Amino acid sequence: MAKPKPRMFSGIQPSGELHIGNYLGAVKNWVALQHQYDAFFCIVDLHAITQPFEPEEMPQQIFDLALGLLAAGLDPSKCTIFVQSDVPEHSELAWVFTTVTPLGELKRMTQFKDKSSRQESVLAGILNYPILQAADILLYHAEAVPVGEDQVQHIELTRQIANKWNGRFGEYFPEPQAVVGKVRRVLGLDGQAKMSKSIGNTIGVLESPDEIWEKLRPAITDPQRKRRNDPGNPNVCNLFALHRHFSSEEDIAWADEGCRTAGIGCIECKRRLSENIIEELRPIRERALELQQRPEYVIEVLRSGAERASAVAVDTISEVRRRMGLHSATAPAKSEVE
Ligand code: SF4
Repeated sequence: MAKPKPRMFSGIQPSGELHIGNYLGAVKNWVALQHQYDAFFCIVDLHAITQPFEPEEMPQQIFDLALGLLAAGLDPSKCTIFVQSDVPEHSELAWVFTTVTPLGELKRMTQFKDKSSRQESVLAGILNYPILQAADILLYHAEAVPVGEDQVQHIELTRQIANKWNGRFGEYFPEPQAVVGKVRRVLGLDGQAKMSKSIGNTIGVLESPDEIWEKLRPAITDPQRKRRNDPGNPNVCNLFALHRHFSSEEDIAWADEGCRTAGIGCIECKRRLSENIIEELRPIRERALELQQRPEYVIEVLRSGAERASAVAVDTISEVRRRMGLHSATAPAKSEVE
């Protein structure tokens, strides 16, 4: 009998349509990994509500993201795609883990320190975010977790939580490993901050060729290149970084040389980049247009994904309750009921 594939879990927040930042940083990698692992991909709406959000926009954002994931190449016959809040065991296990997680560990998380330093009033959800993340992963006994570099610390905390719980209630949860993709950080078109829809510095994976060009045309380049004849440094230009992701070796060398010697202008360089991005995204866009005609298929993928995820999650929670002596799994001793 074939050995079962190792389990993998990864989550993505429903911020609407995929953009090239989360495509390069996560989803492109997921499409490859779905063949190696028993992969669970989760649209993490419970994480998303730790930030300001509009309830009436959330269902569309979840749908758009699911459609984008399918268009990008996730195959529901190879992996499980579902929405976090459709499986309530995520929240229950998160609560259980709050009882073994020291407050100090949460407060030292870089992401918490970073977010809380920018807010006057910090919500408990932001502090507890990594506990819910640990629950997401351990609910499925995932051994591998593809993440960006900024999440590695949270996976270390997940291992500590698994370890503490196992120490108290018996060996049960694995200690998962972070799988950090080759693409570390994709900057937005402003060349300053990480590409993010909330900042408005993105290119959407499903945008039309004209829209892509209209966004790239005014994008920030090397500030030293004020005139066409000024030589530049491609290493300080974010558009050159995008060439590395989307262009052939030949085009990368052309942009590198042309920039340094002022042999090409920025507009030419951007035009070539835009053609290469459009070409890579073309099949995804075509598939998305096709899926937009079949919304019931997308909904069905999420429904059957939640069903499959629930089957695993319910087993995990039953065992957690049993080991912790919680009510539904534990009948009182006979003498107590007489
Ligand atoms: Fe950037 Fe290309 Fe302009 Fe150089 S030529 S500054 S790499 S856009």
